Amino acid sequence: MMPAQRGSREPDVLVIGGGNAALCAALMAREAGASVLLLEAAPRAWRGGNSAHTRNLRCMHDAPQDVLTEAYSQEEFWQDLLKVTGGRTDEAMARLAIRASSHCRGWMRRHGVHFQPSLSGTLHLSRTNAFFMGGGKALINAFYRSAEQLGVQIRYEAPVDRLALRDGAFVAAFVGSERITARSCVLAAGGFESNREWLRQAWGQNARGEWPADNFAIRGTRFNQGVLLRHLLDAGADPIGDATQAHMVAIDARAPLYDGGICTRIDCVSLGLVVNRDAQRFYDEGEDFWPKRYAIWGRLVAQQPGQIAYSIIDAKALGRFMPPVFAGTRADSLEDLARQLGLDIPAFMQTVNAFNAACRPGQFNHQVLDDCVTQGLTPPKTHWARAIDTAPFYGYAVKPGVTFTYLGLKTDTSTAVRFAGVASPNLFVAGEMMAGNVLGQGYTAGVGMSIGTAFGRIAGTQAAQVAMQETSLGTT
Ligand SMILES: Cc1cc2nc3c(=O)[nH]c(=O)nc-3n(C[C@H](O)[C@H](O)[C@H](O)COP(=O)(O)OP(=O)(O)OC[C@H]3O[C@@H](n4cnc5c(N)ncnc54)[C@H](O)[C@@H]3O)c2cc1C
Repeated sequence: MMPAQRGSREPDVLVIGGGNAALCAALMAREAGASVLLLEAAPRAWRGGNSAHTRNLRCMHDAPQDVLTEAYSQEEFWQDLLKVTGGRTDEAMARLAIRASSHCRGWMRRHGVHFQPSLSGTLHLSRTNAFFMGGGKALINAFYRSAEQLGVQIRYEAPVDRLALRDGAFVAAFVGSERITARSCVLAAGGFESNREWLRQAWGQNARGEWPADNFAIRGTRFNQGVLLRHLLDAGADPIGDATQAHMVAIDARAPLYDGGICTRIDCVSLGLVVNRDAQRFYDEGEDFWPKRYAIWGRLVAQQPGQIAYSIIDAKALGRFMPPVFAGTRADSLEDLARQLGLDIPAFMQTVNAFNAACRPGQFNHQVLDDCVTQGLTPPKTHWARAIDTAPFYGYAVKPGVTFTYLGLKTDTSTAVRFAGVASPNLFVAGEMMAGNVLGQGYTAGVGMSIGTAFGRIAGTQAAQVAMQETSLGTT
């Protein structure tokens, strides 16, 4: 049975943020008997941050488990993470998140989350990722419903702009002029991806005189402005990560500035070729399975002139990838496709002809790292290389879509925020605000929610423990 709330008006635990990490923290703290207040910057209709846009969670499992097929061992998950981050990860924290992913779903189910098997398609995720029935929006709604039932106080349109700290300890949070005290605090207010000015500063001006970030779209919420991240860094909290590292996807160039979500992602890159506005290829489209590569393509496009590129496929690719929300440009000839996309026709034809001539015959299989490769081509295409030769042809103009940034607060497995290496006694951090401890660069699909769930739950438990210890010692 849920412990009763204690009498005082001041909550034991203050949770700042309203996405998955915040809700996991709030639920765990409340289950541990603490009274909890959650402050969400967004209005109720927009609650849930980027978590509301998600679809799945990457999970370790040693044998088939409900919606997950086969096995995905701790070691394989770790090796995947090691590979995508190029070693820029903290092994202890990564392994903790991986182990936690194997047993969090029972707890999630108890709070009303339902799972479903992955849909068939090109994402190769049925073994590794558990999909939320109804997507992230349904997950968020379930967590809010459960939190309300358990007596977590929730306030919307409550953006915290600063904290009062004493020697690294949390004292109070401010929403404008309102001062809110609590015995401990969990920060789960996302990255700074929605803050276009900060992105502009971080990316700077390139050698072509462009400000690349001016051409980025933000795939998720507009509310992750990084206000508290900036405030904490200015207050001396230890940072982790690099401001230009982020989960960045190639999205349809027609996507809106915010909240385009999953349906604007262009998922046919590994099935065709990608050229920049000079009609030149610039990266191996078939380097690895798409879930391990999709999150680098936004960054690759960001480095191209005009921050634009064109994903080109032919009829053979149709039905093999998640269809995007907007139809692609369609043409019956490659020349006409180049013309419609505004590409230089001779340059485009030269690129496609060179690519087609370099494709070696192989056994095409999009479910494995197959032997369809190019030979003598720079850059090569190392899997799924097939000539672009079957009409109709399709092209999608793509631009960089920022999912979330990796610059965050340094922490360890306790989730305590650190000031000059010293752990705060009552200030904890979870989710995107600390994901850079695990993700120095790169990404593998579903690990954002694994990180948010694991460290959100720890942060909530820790915050409750500290708050309740303080109370029983009569120190507040
Ligand atoms: C389109 C899209 C699809 C994605 N799909 C997946 C997926 O399938 N699987 C996966 O693992 N990851 C996915 N991700 C990444 C995933 O969303 C994040 O890793 C994860 O949701 C982070 O959770 P969080 O709670 O830290 O942040 P968020 O869910 O973004 O929550 C941050 C919250 O903080 C609030 N906030 C911000 N500033 C303040 C403030 N000053 N005061 C109070 N509140 C504040 C925001 O309103 C928001 O509610 C996706 C992201 C996007 C954008």
